Amino acid sequence: MNLKSVAEIQDELERIEAEIEKILLPHKIGALFLFDSKTPPNDELDSAIYSDPHKALYCLNINITDLNIRFGLSIGYSNEWINIYALSKRKTPSIERFGYHLYEKRWSYGDPPATPVPIKKGIHIFQEDIEKCFSTLNERRELANQKKELHRYLRDQEEKEILYKESLRAKAITEFCVEREKILTQKYLYLFNDSISFALKDTKLSVNKLNKIQTYDWLVENKTNLKTGECDCIDYKKYGKYHLFNDVRSMCRHRFFAYRETDTIKDLSEIESFALYHNSHPIHLIHKGDLSNGRRFIITINHNSNCLNIVMPKVKLDGFVRCSLSFENGTYIRKGGSIVMMDLIHEKLEFLFKDLMVLSKHFTF
Ligand SMILES: [Zn+2]
Repeated sequence: MNLKSVAEIQDELERIEAEIEKILLPHKIGALFLFDSKTPPNDELDSAIYSDPHKALYCLNINITDLNIRFGLSIGYSNEWINIYALSKRKTPSIERFGYHLYEKRWSYGDPPATPVPIKKGIHIFQEDIEKCFSTLNERRELANQKKELHRYLRDQEEKEILYKESLRAKAITEFCVEREKILTQKYLYLFNDSISFALKDTKLSVNKLNKIQTYDWLVENKTNLKTGECDCIDYKKYGKYHLFNDVRSMCRHRFFAYRETDTIKDLSEIESFALYHNSHPIHLIHKGDLSNGRRFIITINHNSNCLNIVMPKVKLDGFVRCSLSFENGTYIRKGGSIVMMDLIHEKLEFLFKDLMVLSKHFTF
């Protein structure tokens, strides 16, 4: 395959454009006015010619004031037939395309436009110019094909370049995340050394419910044991099993799902309960803190995640809201919470992000 860069293709396109221009030039100085394909259509007649899917190599907008007629003329791939754009003789006339044989002086399908006589006269006034166009058709067609081919090639190359750049960017992000994970783990491990412990309700109802839910397909599939907390899933094996039974970090999503369905967990504060029930598990690190207005907030980081999930109280109403912030620079991934509360949270987090922001400056995406 001939591998040309986008710049080379563009150069070649320019060269072809110049050649086409050379062919067109003699006709431009003739009686016919040629459309410039780069100029958008400026009236109904232009639009009709432009929007016609019929391939045309030359498009002309003819205005003969002496005869009081205007029509469009285009020359495609024939050197006998031309296309005429003019008003039709329908009940509600609109501009349509009509085929015209220059030498036999007849309309295609015997179907003329609304005013065929002056239009015919107009066409033959320009016969010499039309024939000049005919004489260049082969060369013009050849260049048009080359141009089409190059445009297609250009699109392919541009797409390839975009994909290549995307892959480089993805690689840089991956590398950065791997690099970052070590730092984050070290940094957050001691800052985020809180956890949330819970107890199970020991009522008859929840035991029954638990037994019932134990028959769910995906719990059965993963052999999720709700009494011991063990599970066959990768999350439990990779993370969960290193924590105690009553630590929320020991829960894989299977166990968590079962507890949520049966409302089995007790001993959580309101904010803990909210944070837990709106989190996607498994949780890696937890930080509980108090804002300067004395109200509590909770930050959690999940395994394989690139954000901090923050739960904070609403300012005026009861209840809590969540938002997510990016690891790298503390910008929002998902907004939530009032401005007042977010300011307090940001204040708390600022020192955490300071080092990370210095680090992330070395990477530009
Ligand atoms: Zn599991």
